[in-house]
Amino acid sequence: MPELKVLGGQPIFKEMVPVSSPTMPEFSRFESRLRELYSSGMITTAKFVAELEQKVSAYLGVKNVVAVSSNSAGQMLSLKCLGLKGEVILPSFSFCATSHGLTWNNLKPVFVDVDPSTGGVDPDRVEEAVTPDTCAILGVHIWGNPCAADKLERIAKKRGLKLIMDAAQAMGSALNGRRVGGFGDAEVFSCSPTKLLTSGEGGLVATNDDRLAGLLRKGRIYGMDPKTYDCEFNGLNARMTEFNAAFGLCSFEDLDRNMERRKKSFAYYKKLLSGIPGVSFAEPTPGAEPNGIYFTIFIDEKAFGLSRDEVYDAMLMEKILVKKYFDPPLHRLTVNRGAACRDLSVTNELCSKVLTFPLYSHISAELQENIVDVFRRIHAKADAVREVLGRTVAS
Ligand SMILES: *Cc1c(COP(=O)(O)O)cnc(C)c1O
Repeated sequence: MPELKVLGGQPIFKEMVPVSSPTMPEFSRFESRLRELYSSGMITTAKFVAELEQKVSAYLGVKNVVAVSSNSAGQMLSLKCLGLKGEVILPSFSFCATSHGLTWNNLKPVFVDVDPSTGGVDPDRVEEAVTPDTCAILGVHIWGNPCAADKLERIAKKRGLKLIMDAAQAMGSALNGRRVGGFGDAEVFSCSPTKLLTSGEGGLVATNDDRLAGLLRKGRIYGMDPKTYDCEFNGLNARMTEFNAAFGLCSFEDLDRNMERRKKSFAYYKKLLSGIPGVSFAEPTPGAEPNGIYFTIFIDEKAFGLSRDEVYDAMLMEKILVKKYFDPPLHRLTVNRGAACRDLSVTNELCSKVLTFPLYSHISAELQENIVDVFRRIHAKADAVREVLGRTVAS
């Protein structure tokens, strides 16, 4: 068996193994849509965008879906159109774009801790953080694992708060038999290339609130009323193009199949990685059916023999692009310096332990086996790996 790169061998993989990779729909379906839009001359927010909105709305069982240029733009507009002012409670354990919409809208993020077993925002911590200045809660379905959205709904209702979800990763996921998309006032999906339903770039805002949907439709075209050309508020150009929607429709047709494959590969990783000391997994939120989009483990340094960062470095040397989803957490980003933070001890601990493995809807069992094989060998030679990495850092 060849030696690990970190111990003087050659990298196990010749080319970098990406952490995520879009599952490309069959080209002929995309091609026929492209031909149609090419001959129509309608290249932005027209027929295909409307079709995508309507199909996703039916799939989610939500009254309105408004397509936008990204999840980030969708969040910026949703917060704006809800007319929020004051503090918004959200988990710190997420991707940077989760809090950007707040600060763009001059809203004050208040970071709270997550549940150690699910990684989702802890509803008890949310409730404790409510003040007279709180206007909303922003939940996140991290790794496609729905957060305790039902509990957040109860808190929001009781306290008279709005509830928005960063559902970027959670297309197809469900909680208590209810598909993600219909919780709270609005849920915002991403259709960027790493997501299960992708349009290249894009976002989808799902809401049962007709008024909000109407405002979002104006918000994505500068805030303009298309009849009067008046702007009641300053919106964005956040249109989804027809090219993106045509791709998104093809990706949508494959969604259920891709999700089933993804869940299977997710379960296979769990099996392959079971029994390794110091390796544990996030649990689904009670009642949740995650879509399996990201496979993330926690590494306990003492039991494993190496820190998460050492494992990350050693995997990268073998050309396996693992990720730290999500480290650094939001409260440690420069842009959020000085933001209000509650106790974030669970977040700080999880951040130091997370490691996300490559996973795609089309990943082969063989690739998964080879990745885990490398991981197991790094573990088996933990002491030697640590010594080499320690020297590299010191020199
Ligand atoms: C991908 C992602 C986003 C950003 O989505 P864009 O469409 O790229 O703006 C936001 N939040 C989370 C949790 C994400 O995973």
